Amino acid sequence: SAIRTMSAPLDASKLKIVKSSTPSTPKPNDQLVFGKTFTDHMLTVEWTKENGWGVPEIKPYGNLSLDPSACVFHYAFELFEGLKAYRSPDNKITMFRPDKNMERMNKSAARICLPTFDSEELIKLMGKLIEQDKHLVPEGQGYSLYVRPTMIGTTPALGVSTPDRAMIFVITSPVGPYYKTGFKAVRLEATDYATRAWPGGVGDKKLGANYAPCILPQLQAAERGYQQNLWLFGPEKNITEVGTMNVFFVFKDNATGKKELVTAPLDGTILEGVTRDSVLTLAREKLDPKEWTISERYYSINEVADRAEKGELVEAFGSGTAAVVSPIKEIGWKGKDIHVPLQPGKQTGPLTENVAQWIANIQYGKEKHGNWSRV
Ligand code: PMP
Repeated sequence: SAIRTMSAPLDASKLKIVKSSTPSTPKPNDQLVFGKTFTDHMLTVEWTKENGWGVPEIKPYGNLSLDPSACVFHYAFELFEGLKAYRSPDNKITMFRPDKNMERMNKSAARICLPTFDSEELIKLMGKLIEQDKHLVPEGQGYSLYVRPTMIGTTPALGVSTPDRAMIFVITSPVGPYYKTGFKAVRLEATDYATRAWPGGVGDKKLGANYAPCILPQLQAAERGYQQNLWLFGPEKNITEVGTMNVFFVFKDNATGKKELVTAPLDGTILEGVTRDSVLTLAREKLDPKEWTISERYYSINEVADRAEKGELVEAFGSGTAAVVSPIKEIGWKGKDIHVPLQPGKQTGPLTENVAQWIANIQYGKEKHGNWSRV
């Protein structure tokens, strides 16, 4: 239709920049608390069904003004992403695999009938935003700029229907290492009293609506001394994810001595983690196939418990942008704790440690991996 052909695509070349008149000085690295400090600027771009994407704007960080009837507030038309930009020793700033986040963001948007956009254009715009506040990108191993692209439906009407107005905004937050004093292995509670996601649902999309319902079970696990939920699914008690991370286990077959790195398959019930994909890719490249099998397959808490009993459970870790990898030391299940071995005197298993190093080397520009780092 005529309307459709007039509907403008997202276009980074239309960017307008209004600079903050009160630029801030960087906080000392030791004062960076995850997601509590933001940089001086933010990016916004509005969309309407009639006209498509409007003029992208970088402007001083500040409040949004929205009609209280906006559909985001009532029916959770909201999705987000999380990625990081790193300062390399030669002072380049690079985003890690932003194309993967943009691909996922578009899938999330399509699922809740919000507009999709050209991924490359938003990557360019995020680049401009980071450039604007580049003095606030911290330096040092473990430090980075966390980037939070978000899309909301803004239609000011209470009827439940397809949003005809939307907005993308991007904010950024300088962050420190998840584990300030080195790794700290976590205790998980295998959770079958709440379900994070289900077949035909939206667990593989990064919708805000997936997150709020997971806090109560986390508090319930915390009451019993566990930091995170290990989300199980179905009568088989399959392992899906941990907290807001994907999860990997390492088993060693007593008979053959062969090791297996296992994670759940992308069947629509788990988030398609960028870190998960990076771990799998690097493991396939770097681990000797004579010693290792790398599997995306279903596996249950019962298999983990059985193999722990036989001495075949050798390692477990979560994977996600915030912590990169997070070692696991215990899993509460049926009133007992399954113990995951750690290296003597350390808070991590050997593969977990290696994976963290492989990824950090790419993120901080010590090694190159295809187009994973985008200046
Ligand atoms: N699962 C869930 C539910 C998450 O929220 C996240 C964080 N985005 C992940 C897994 C890890 O994804 P990524 O490696 O892309 O950060």
